[in-house]
Amino acid sequence: MQAQANLLDFDARQLAAWFAERGEKPFRARQVMRWVHREGCDDFDRMTDVAKSLRARLHDEACVRAPDVLRDSLSADGTRKWLLDVGAGNAVETVFIPETGRGTLCVSSQAGCALDCAFCSTGKQGFNRNLSAAEIIGQLWLANRLLGAAHDPVPAEDGEPGNGRVISNVVMMGMGEPLANFDNVVTALRLMLDDNAYGLSRRRVTVSTSGIVPAIDRLRDECPVALAVSLHAPDDALRDRLVPINQKYPLRELMAACSRYLDRAPRDFVTFEYVMLDGVNDSDACARRLVALVRDVPCKFNLIPFNPFPGSEFARSAPERIRRFASILIDAGIVTTTRKTRGEDVDAACGQLAGQVQDRSRRTIRIAHQEESRT
Ligand code: SAH
Ligand code: SF4
Repeated sequence: MQAQANLLDFDARQLAAWFAERGEKPFRARQVMRWVHREGCDDFDRMTDVAKSLRARLHDEACVRAPDVLRDSLSADGTRKWLLDVGAGNAVETVFIPETGRGTLCVSSQAGCALDCAFCSTGKQGFNRNLSAAEIIGQLWLANRLLGAAHDPVPAEDGEPGNGRVISNVVMMGMGEPLANFDNVVTALRLMLDDNAYGLSRRRVTVSTSGIVPAIDRLRDECPVALAVSLHAPDDALRDRLVPINQKYPLRELMAACSRYLDRAPRDFVTFEYVMLDGVNDSDACARRLVALVRDVPCKFNLIPFNPFPGSEFARSAPERIRRFASILIDAGIVTTTRKTRGEDVDAACGQLAGQVQDRSRRTIRIAHQEESRT
């Protein structure tokens, strides 16, 4: 028997092509797509307006399968975190963050991450593999089903319909570097935006990247959504150390890519994320150099107080330091917010997502050796 196709792997065009190969009309694909994504339905028998013969065929040749939930944790502040099984001993995490007026889902794109940023728990675990499109969109599919009636739908905001949905925003800020898994991430993004699926506005879907310059250009050309760039340092010397991909795509190239992205972006600014590391990148001089660095890029800053994890070598900047740093940016006319730390009690805060990664890159072993030789 041929393997069943997981319909969560297909965006609208791919699903229409899969139906066409079976002699089915495009509107059938749209019907099934609405059942799967809008209704969260994984049972072909319940798709009552789909012809019986087609339902029987789907039964044989297709399935709708999201990752299994291994653990479901609820933080005291309402943040909810799911640990999802992606096979072979790997697990990734998805986090739902309810706020007044919106509900945000933080989605993972890889089991682990190969980019090894110095302050990131995911990076420290090494890399196993890219998630499939089904595993990425499956996080939204699952969260919608699991949140169900537990939360009120988000009301309409700034003229955009809230869509009757609990999840109004998606940020690709979970485990992994989304632009290093480009094709699968873009398939999932297209589904998030599709009116027959989740119907989210481009402005409410954000890709966060550590700065893979050619992939930023591709995203602009193929599926422009809101862009967040993990900056974390005002100069190449420090950024080379904190975000090693900077050695390949230094700040001058990154800033130019941000400007190019804004030509087609759904928002007229880039969000720069900046993790606040005590005594490392949080001085007044760093803030002033940042102002000069981003002079030509319309942007907002989001300062993220560092979230420690076991074995991390950094400390969080003091609140007063963060306020002072923010005030330098604000005085230079840059809109600056400081991220509230959410879900810390269930290790769901930024950079704490660890899941479970069977490292195939052997980096963990390398790190272990380095640690041994240090002692
Ligand atoms: N790989 C992507 C997206 C995932 S990380 C990226 O790097 O942008 C989402 C954000 O959390 C990034 O800005 C990342 O730098 C930040 N982050 C990572 N580890 C962190 C930590 N320990 N504390 C606070 N923020 C962290
Ligand atoms: Fe990967 Fe982002 Fe973590 Fe860097 S911060 S190691 S790019 S997940």
